[in-house]
Amino acid sequence: MRICIDPGHGGTDPGTEGFGITEKNIVLDIAVKLAKLLEQEGMEVILTRDRDVTLTPNERTDLINRSQCDMVVSIHCNGGPVSAKGVETIYGYGSEEGKKLAENILEQIVKLGVKRRRAYYKLNAKREDYYFIIREVEPVSVIVECAFLTNPSDNRLLSSNSFRKKVANAIATGIFDTLGTDYSGKKHWADEYYERIRKEGLVTDEHMLDDEVTWGEFAVVLTRLLDRMEGES
Ligand SMILES: [Zn+2]
Repeated sequence: MRICIDPGHGGTDPGTEGFGITEKNIVLDIAVKLAKLLEQEGMEVILTRDRDVTLTPNERTDLINRSQCDMVVSIHCNGGPVSAKGVETIYGYGSEEGKKLAENILEQIVKLGVKRRRAYYKLNAKREDYYFIIREVEPVSVIVECAFLTNPSDNRLLSSNSFRKKVANAIATGIFDTLGTDYSGKKHWADEYYERIRKEGLVTDEHMLDDEVTWGEFAVVLTRLLDRMEGES
């Protein structure tokens, strides 16, 4: 199974902005987290971009069509009036598999407490799929509009690293639900160690266990440990 993850926008195209955060960065982070989760499950993953670069629609669709992947998930954040919030997914008109995938991903993101909007298709004046990332690619393709950057409560969620990890996990679950295979949510070998230091309060957030740690972050963890030792002596 080969799956293509497409973080929307990038480079000179920032996408939507809201309260100081930018769509291109948020969706890249979710996409990279999702890719890691899928790879842990033995899937082959292709990212249309793994850093902040500009891709034209043509470059994006060529890359996808050449990759011979089975499925495309394009990740976005929504923008709109300040009151608009929630998750939407979009599939190709007439695609049963796309519809199923879009509905399953929507369902999983709703479980995280994001308002349910809809899974839908959208056509242009020529009655073709409106979005190029669905219209111009050969594999089944869906767009996930995770939440609204322009809404204060959705924005707060998207700003949180642990929420973005949960969204990646929700999308992975939606993909496995659609494929009819079990998502083991396979444990990382270091999960129990991480869980222990999290319970002890030495770390406070959820992280991908293969992410790099800076000296600054390392110093914070060691300081918490020193404080704890001093408290006990
Ligand atoms: Zn977008």
